[in-house]
Amino acid sequence: MEQKEIWKSVLGEIELQISKPNFLTWFKQSQLINKNEKDGTVLVSLPNNFAKEWVKNRYHKIILGSLRSLDGSIKNIDYVVVSQNPAVIQSNQKRGQVSKTIANPQPTLIELKIDPKTNLNPRYTMDSFVVGSSNELAYAAVQAVTKDVGKKYNPLFIHGGVGLGKTHLLQAAGNEIKKTYQEGVNVLYVTSEKFINDVVWAIRNRRMEDVKKRYRNIDVLVIDDIQFIGGKTATELEFFYTFNVLYENNKQIIISSDRPPAAIPTLEERLRSRFEGGMTVDVSYPDYEMRLAILKTKVQEQGWSVEEKILESVATKVQRNIRELEGVLNKVVFYEQYKGEKMNTKKLEEIINETTQVTSKNITATAVIKIVSDFFEVSPDDLMGRSRKSEVVKPRQICMYLLRDILKLSYPHIGEKLGNRDHTTAIHACEKINRDINQKPSLNQRIMLIKERVYKDSG
Ligand code: ADP
Ligand code: MG
Repeated sequence: MEQKEIWKSVLGEIELQISKPNFLTWFKQSQLINKNEKDGTVLVSLPNNFAKEWVKNRYHKIILGSLRSLDGSIKNIDYVVVSQNPAVIQSNQKRGQVSKTIANPQPTLIELKIDPKTNLNPRYTMDSFVVGSSNELAYAAVQAVTKDVGKKYNPLFIHGGVGLGKTHLLQAAGNEIKKTYQEGVNVLYVTSEKFINDVVWAIRNRRMEDVKKRYRNIDVLVIDDIQFIGGKTATELEFFYTFNVLYENNKQIIISSDRPPAAIPTLEERLRSRFEGGMTVDVSYPDYEMRLAILKTKVQEQGWSVEEKILESVATKVQRNIRELEGVLNKVVFYEQYKGEKMNTKKLEEIINETTQVTSKNITATAVIKIVSDFFEVSPDDLMGRSRKSEVVKPRQICMYLLRDILKLSYPHIGEKLGNRDHTTAIHACEKINRDINQKPSLNQRIMLIKERVYKDSG
């Protein structure tokens, strides 16, 4: 339990730092299997030698950093190859084939197995999806599709920013259809990377017929993150043909993308118009109530106990996406359960910063200044200028606060960005807003709105 929690937190953090395909390829089957309390070495298992070498060489630093932020007593990591099949581990151990002796092996099998036939992960269900104003349309569309496969909305195209639940919805649709029709329908979930790889492999190995057969035999094709397909001519063409064959035979196609069809720059026109010919819905940013509801649902699902106050605080501060919400929650629980310490404001702040920092790299100071100036209807020049009028001073202070809060800029840097002011001015502004937020709900509300805009624009 403990090790599982640590590893889950580590994975949550790594997931935010590397690309999704890399994450899935290298970390999906990794586990933390042991910690040597004496020398602080932990043992991480990987499913094969290749993965072991790759992870060790490429990701050691990130993993160690992340582990140490959770448990300062961890000093080093050893990597071992452990097959996921417990029977194999045992017999290998007997024959002494595992390079390290595992003192206390706890090869926890992934309880929820991905179905190799459909690629669906049973963890994603319609029931575990929290519905609110930001996703109710998408949810309703998925529900309709699962009830009337291939007939109602075809294709169903769901788009929205990172971590807002697209994969969850797509997989839940697949699982729901599978549950209803059992062996009667052929469901396949693939990421567009997987599709691209299959096509590239087939071309190279002259096995295109196999691939064609596989994909065109499907009743429900669920394809995640389609935006990557744009511009890859051969793949796009193959997808277009596959799409047509399925479509003409009333097979259901469900697609996700990080943007609407019109905004995938290199997508061929005829494919774009096919996408737009079905139903297009988006998932957007959850509001406070929904963020809190999601946290509560997760806590309940996992049987954790976390103080209401903490959940409220997380829901207030973590606004960018649901993946980050989960990341912070996992760490909070880890901290309380594994370390046996109570969460305090300072620690919570640290956890939130750690988790959310890595994803704010697309945001620039200029963008923040622009959004604040738009919001208060004062010009950026005014914000940077010398005016002491209160309708300028307040937004300027809020802007300073946000540069600190979102971008973690240093005070001198903040001063410089806002018209070469002294760093003490920046400190004063940040402290003032920090105090005021707690006393004035309307100010808090405004700052949240601005932050949402900032994240939305950069996401
Ligand atoms: P995306 O594919 O849009 O990047 P994901 O579907 O991977 O996002 O969602 C990120 C995480 O947040 C997943 O663990 C998912 O289960 C969870 N999640 C997203 N939306 C919801 C929701 N409405 N209710 C419950 N969990 C959600
Ligand atoms: Mg996704």
